[in-house]
Amino acid sequence: MHDFDIVKETSTHYIAHCPNCSDGKKEPKLYLSKDNGKFICFRCNYSGSDPDMALNSVFENRPDPEMITKSYSLDLIPNLDSEGALYLLKRGLTREVIELYGFKSYFIWGKSCVFIPNRIENNITDFFQLRFIDNGEFRYYTATSTKPLFGIQGLTGTDTLMLAEGIFTAIGAKMKLGHDCISLLGKTLTVYQRMQLESLAEPYKELVVALDAQTYPQSYSLARTLLEMFPEKRISLILLADDADDYADMDRDIAIKYFNNRIKLSNSSDLGFIKVINQFKRKAV
Ligand SMILES: [Zn+2]
Repeated sequence: MHDFDIVKETSTHYIAHCPNCSDGKKEPKLYLSKDNGKFICFRCNYSGSDPDMALNSVFENRPDPEMITKSYSLDLIPNLDSEGALYLLKRGLTREVIELYGFKSYFIWGKSCVFIPNRIENNITDFFQLRFIDNGEFRYYTATSTKPLFGIQGLTGTDTLMLAEGIFTAIGAKMKLGHDCISLLGKTLTVYQRMQLESLAEPYKELVVALDAQTYPQSYSLARTLLEMFPEKRISLILLADDADDYADMDRDIAIKYFNNRIKLSNSSDLGFIKVINQFKRKAV
């Protein structure tokens, strides 16, 4: 936070001596918004944003179900610092990918974290994830029930769209398999995500369910949902090796082998599906 000499406050603003034009003796004219951290001096027009305050206000708003309609300026979020960048590069992301998805690094509550925005337009995002680097681990900030599809900025609209759980899986799938991949931030579609997918899926010929390992019933159920939504499209499944955490852990050969063995869903029963899966798993070993 800026080291302003705050003199008084209103319900919406702090009022401080301006570091640019006041020596502390003149009337305080700098107004610092409690809502978004923006400040301006009404004597000399010195202005800017306080990023700590801006992000804190984002956090305070986080549980708000209305947040889906809000947008957040990325101007307020600093660019990658070394700790966040090192983590991302260690996970196998390239500089280009980091740029494309708009990853930023931030330091808040005494901890380094990576800020992952969703769709970016004019440097504004409608949704984000924040993951703290905590003893080498990342912690999720769970999304609201109205969470949108995540990772839209990576889509090109050609041929195949994959649906994965996490954003790192989505990026890994794109890097390893070369297919567009979107993150659900879960194993099912929210109502809002269904709405988004209806128009988003339009240019694709094929949709591929690519949930994490050991989620066969959920994968099947999601694929059935997609079949109902898009009866004219090819719906496929990718099955991950049981010991693979996500696509970023798989080498290219294994990933393509699994993809080429995809299963076309029919009206087969759940039991038949599991049987096919088991045969498939034996073959793949
Ligand atoms: Zn001033």
